[in-house]
Amino acid sequence: MLMSGSVLAVVAILLIVTSLLIREYGNATETAVRSANNVVQLIDADVQRNADLYDTSLKGMISAWQDPEVRSISPQLRQQVLFDRSTAAPYKGDLVIMDETGAIVADSVSIIPREDNFSDRPSFARHRESASLDLLVDGPFKARWGFKDWCISFSRRIPSPDGKFVGVASASMRLSYFKRLLRTLDVGQGSTVGLVTTEGLLLARQPDPGNQDYIGRDFSRLPNFQRILKEINGSFSATSDLDGIQRLYTFSRVGDLPLIVVITQSRDEVYAVWKRNALLVASATGVLCLGILWLSYLLGKQLRLRFQAERELAELASTDGLTGLANRRHLDYVMKQEWSRGIRSGKSLSLLMIDVDHFKAFNDRHGHHGGDVALRNVARTLAASIRRPGDLAARYGGEEFLVVLPETDLQGARVIAEKIRVAIEALPPFAGDRQSVTVSIGIACQRPASGLKPSQLFDDADKALYQAKRNGRNRVELAVEHVIQT
Ligand code: GH3
Ligand code: MG
Ligand code: MG
Repeated sequence: MLMSGSVLAVVAILLIVTSLLIREYGNATETAVRSANNVVQLIDADVQRNADLYDTSLKGMISAWQDPEVRSISPQLRQQVLFDRSTAAPYKGDLVIMDETGAIVADSVSIIPREDNFSDRPSFARHRESASLDLLVDGPFKARWGFKDWCISFSRRIPSPDGKFVGVASASMRLSYFKRLLRTLDVGQGSTVGLVTTEGLLLARQPDPGNQDYIGRDFSRLPNFQRILKEINGSFSATSDLDGIQRLYTFSRVGDLPLIVVITQSRDEVYAVWKRNALLVASATGVLCLGILWLSYLLGKQLRLRFQAERELAELASTDGLTGLANRRHLDYVMKQEWSRGIRSGKSLSLLMIDVDHFKAFNDRHGHHGGDVALRNVARTLAASIRRPGDLAARYGGEEFLVVLPETDLQGARVIAEKIRVAIEALPPFAGDRQSVTVSIGIACQRPASGLKPSQLFDDADKALYQAKRNGRNRVELAVEHVIQT
């Protein structure tokens, strides 16, 4: 009971601690995702604002280009009118206007437009096919002119007054903008922040790997990126396709632009504090649980020892030291119980009172020690002569014994008494004696009733015993009333 109780308590403690640790683990994940989301939103806002600036420039270029007056002014003035409004955009690359074939017709870099054709840009074909498209993004690509930097370009369709496709206005932005933007962010150790296109091409990454090769790298075939490209917004935990480290991925699309910010956090970093606390709590709980189990074990052991000692004491208190039979106290207790049981069952209760014959003389012949040995032999024979679980042999005092026989009638009691007398007589004679020890037995039998008293049974047995002595010893006698009755 004690042990299973403490095992239950230990299981309960373990369940509570485990559920707390699981909740804390969830909190750590939530905190990491929230802080990654904050970074994502910062990037999102900054990129959006810049995309808006580029869009404003493109719209200005288009409206100026569509003005017939602008076409007629000198090339220098036209360049100023077309491209001056775009100076506000940071990390600005080239701004160009293409005609419907993709050939450059106005250029921010030179007054006489460069001879080039951008119809190979994916967005060019899309603008030509659809009038409904807003701002499109191309890239990353390496600029063919000027800084020859990695760029992306924003572009808008130029319609004629009747809505026909007449060209495309395009502004490129250098990717060093993203590099600078990401550098300003503190994403924590073991974490990375990257910007990819919806096609899975990497535009920028922090921490910067140092070489330029990573720009334009295609991640679209890696399983984690396929999941990111499919889900667009969200977070999940997975093993990195590149370095095999467990990472937490948080990602979000930048406004309506075909760009996705991806933040990866090393799980070791995210769960470092949780791990430390979990280890502490787990070891403290472990020690506590082991302590509880150990204490319960010790307590259980002490209780067992105590129960055993109590049982031994109770046994000592109820047995006779010399013969090992029940003592007088136990006899009284059993008699009381059997008497009540007899009242309930209505069955007879028999009592044999047994006294060793001429024991004084025996003692004189063999000494007190010899007497004790003989008493033990008599006791052993008594104990061996009764068989039923309810039967009881007790030492009444001196060389007198009592046998209680519940649910036994006179006939049965007589058989047992005779059996006892014969068995004792059959014991081998004591050293130097010609005859063995004999006993006289008085039998009393009564059907217990609430009006009667058990002491009557004792008196009857005593009288019968006296009769047996008077009639010559080594014999069995019944109480007088019973003789009359039978
Ligand atoms: P009777 O046949 O009439 O019973 O004669 P008896 O000599 O047995 O009767 P009595 O009652 O006069 O003597 C009982 C003797 O039993 C007295 C005592 O010396 C002896 N006795 C009583 N208790 C013990 C005991 O514990 N050990 C020994 N060795 N002797 C005991
Ligand atoms: Mg006696
Ligand atoms: Mg005697």
